[in-house]
Amino acid sequence: MILDVGPGTFGDVLEDELSERGLTVGHWPQSVQLSTVGGWVACRGAGQLSNRYGKIEDMVIGLDVVLADGSLIHTGGHARVAAGPDLDQVFIGSEGTLGVIVGVRLRLHYLPGAPIDRAYGFGDFGQANEACRHIMQRGVTPAVLRVYDAFEAGSRYDTGDLSVLLVRELGDPAAAEAVIGVVDDECADAERLDDGLVQAWWEHRNDVSALESLTNNGFGVDTMEVTVRWGDLAAAYHGVCAAIGAVEGTRLVSAHQSHAYTDGACLYFTFVTRPDDPADRESWYVEAWNVGARTALEHGASLSHHHGIGLNRSRFMREALGSAHAVLVSIKTALDPNGILNPGKLGLPDPFGDQAWP
Ligand SMILES: Cc1cc2nc3c(=O)[nH]c(=O)nc-3n(C[C@H](O)[C@H](O)[C@H](O)COP(=O)(O)OP(=O)(O)OC[C@H]3O[C@@H](n4cnc5c(N)ncnc54)[C@H](O)[C@@H]3O)c2cc1C
Repeated sequence: MILDVGPGTFGDVLEDELSERGLTVGHWPQSVQLSTVGGWVACRGAGQLSNRYGKIEDMVIGLDVVLADGSLIHTGGHARVAAGPDLDQVFIGSEGTLGVIVGVRLRLHYLPGAPIDRAYGFGDFGQANEACRHIMQRGVTPAVLRVYDAFEAGSRYDTGDLSVLLVRELGDPAAAEAVIGVVDDECADAERLDDGLVQAWWEHRNDVSALESLTNNGFGVDTMEVTVRWGDLAAAYHGVCAAIGAVEGTRLVSAHQSHAYTDGACLYFTFVTRPDDPADRESWYVEAWNVGARTALEHGASLSHHHGIGLNRSRFMREALGSAHAVLVSIKTALDPNGILNPGKLGLPDPFGDQAWP
């Protein structure tokens, strides 16, 4: 149940091959047809069934990495190891700055049985997330546990002012029934909606044509995902929406909660502009990110949950990591003294000038 896979393998090809053998890795990012195993590992990605299978960092049990000096190393290789720090985790999320991943070993699972779905409506985004917190803290992990705020739910599912919780459980039928029993218990005061909403979401979950049509019609759109503790979630949601909403030119800010844990969750914001003068789009974009990322950090959120840092978020890395960023710089300097690997990423020193944007 361990797969040796090349880093350039695309997600849909991988899962098609595995499903013919009754197996799955369980990593289903929205970009599954556009992204590769190496990119998932390099960016610490998350799939839509992460509650069940974990993020990519939970799925990797070993890596082959070519370092800046050309040497090849192998890390990990076992379910758990106690032989110093976990070197897999040094390279997972390093976004190509510490080495080139040339081989990945991933955990496999048997394909699950038929899903059991639930959809519930809540009067408030915070209340819906409180139900998720209770579900997770009771020790069950439904494969999907997503909450859309009233705008996102209403525009997708015509559910008016309700925040909508979508739940899908997969697995052994006996265990799945028990998990759904906990979900129903925690949602007893919510409005039961048509469970078919979950299948509708599943079938259209990777369709980004609505966003494409916005960008084709002069709008600017981006998304920002962060991890926040349950106790800070409602304030972070309102704070980030208000901060980006106050940037001149913003037309819309909305959010959903896409990945849940016992101690917190991922908030995924979408923000849209349509400036009167297209030349203003770049300044709006920079300002929206400046206030969005900083407001999230002020509410105790992480800088990213699964998209990673790239060039755009490099400018926030020192604020986000504080004094620990110096440790990352030391690792970079030790492994890549000439700074040739992906300069400008992760807020690391860049000997070729400042590649980070803006
Ligand atoms: C429409 C859309 C939906 C998305 N949905 C999700 C989602 O649901 N979940 C999610 O996690 N992400 C999502 N993403 C973001 C992105 O697809 C993922 O983060 C993915 O993990 C990156 O993989 P990639 O193959 O596209 O990497 P790339 O974009 O090609 O590379 C990303 C970075 O990783 C480095 N890198 C790539 N391969 C290697 C390697 N072998 N060794 C070292 N460094 C390497 C690159 O140099 C680059 O810095 C989405 C993106 C889009 C456009």
